[in-house]
Amino acid sequence: MFKEELKGLKELKRVLEREKQVKIRNYPFNLENLFYEVIRSLKEEGKLSNDFPSIWELGLASVADAHSEVGSDLFKKWLEFKQKFEQNDEYIVDKELIDKVILPLINEKIDFYADLIKSRKEKISRLKEHAVQTFFTSRGTYYLTIDNGNPIILTPEGKTHFVPPGPEERPVYIGVPKKNKELAEKLAREGKAIKITNKELYKIAFPDPQEFFKKFYGMSERAYNWFQKKLKALGFKDYKTGWGEAVSEGVQKVGEVKDPFGGTAKIYKLPDGEYATTFGTKTNIDDYIIFTFFYNHRPTAETLSETLDLIELRNEIKIGILPEEFECWECGIKTHFTEIPHSSIRELREFISERYCNKC
Ligand SMILES: [Zn+2]
Repeated sequence: MFKEELKGLKELKRVLEREKQVKIRNYPFNLENLFYEVIRSLKEEGKLSNDFPSIWELGLASVADAHSEVGSDLFKKWLEFKQKFEQNDEYIVDKELIDKVILPLINEKIDFYADLIKSRKEKISRLKEHAVQTFFTSRGTYYLTIDNGNPIILTPEGKTHFVPPGPEERPVYIGVPKKNKELAEKLAREGKAIKITNKELYKIAFPDPQEFFKKFYGMSERAYNWFQKKLKALGFKDYKTGWGEAVSEGVQKVGEVKDPFGGTAKIYKLPDGEYATTFGTKTNIDDYIIFTFFYNHRPTAETLSETLDLIELRNEIKIGILPEEFECWECGIKTHFTEIPHSSIRELREFISERYCNKC
């Protein structure tokens, strides 16, 4: 990363330090243009290779742009040279312009990249030092490490990959060159890559159960278990969202019920004896979302509506819109939301958003 840019800039610097002047083809109306013309001439004269990177690839366009502000000494210097260009028909970039404007800009960019590479190297060695686990694969050593409180995988090349949390458990492949599930499975079978789940990685990264629950599920173990118990009581297994129904073709539709948005939900009986139900809602003027809920018994309209309320409440707690725990606005007693007496999830949600314990 940035090594190519640094290499190119250093080569350009070496070439320019040797030149007494560079004759360019067109009037350079700004700094960016000056670089463009100089590099073009050097290429045409065979002093730079034909595939030499462009000013954009080298990051020279941005450094030129940054100096194109009134007040910069370097820019004032450039304006003096520019006036000289205006008076001539031939455009000669002389030694003085090279030394006073072009080389300082190149040096500035070289320092910038060198600093980036250095700080990146320091960060990588720091991450390696604090790795919680190492994985040896045929592609080299991978590290499970924590960056800004998040578990990440550090590759042998020094790239970092964030491991997304739950709620679903998903496989993670370590030591696979690119995102390709079939190849990943094959390499894992041959022992050349490691197959693990995001949940297992979070458990390694956060050995304290409370911290693990907070990081992986976005809530305490107590809250997580409460939701699991409620959803299980409804016969709920899992859900998917998307632009289509998550039900295979040919699965038998066995009925319909009213969905939580006032439309109609389709009920399917799956080959394994479980049920899937699908319904949609508009999320925007021209967008919509389709829910597919899976149950171990045939759901009713009430089941659907309560499931959706639970999932929404869980998300609101997870992303911090609603608190897990609060001090009741009336009695001041600290209350965990699972302790609030309620007749429906919708009512419970009201009490939480009002910070009311419903016991005083
Ligand atoms: Zn109270």
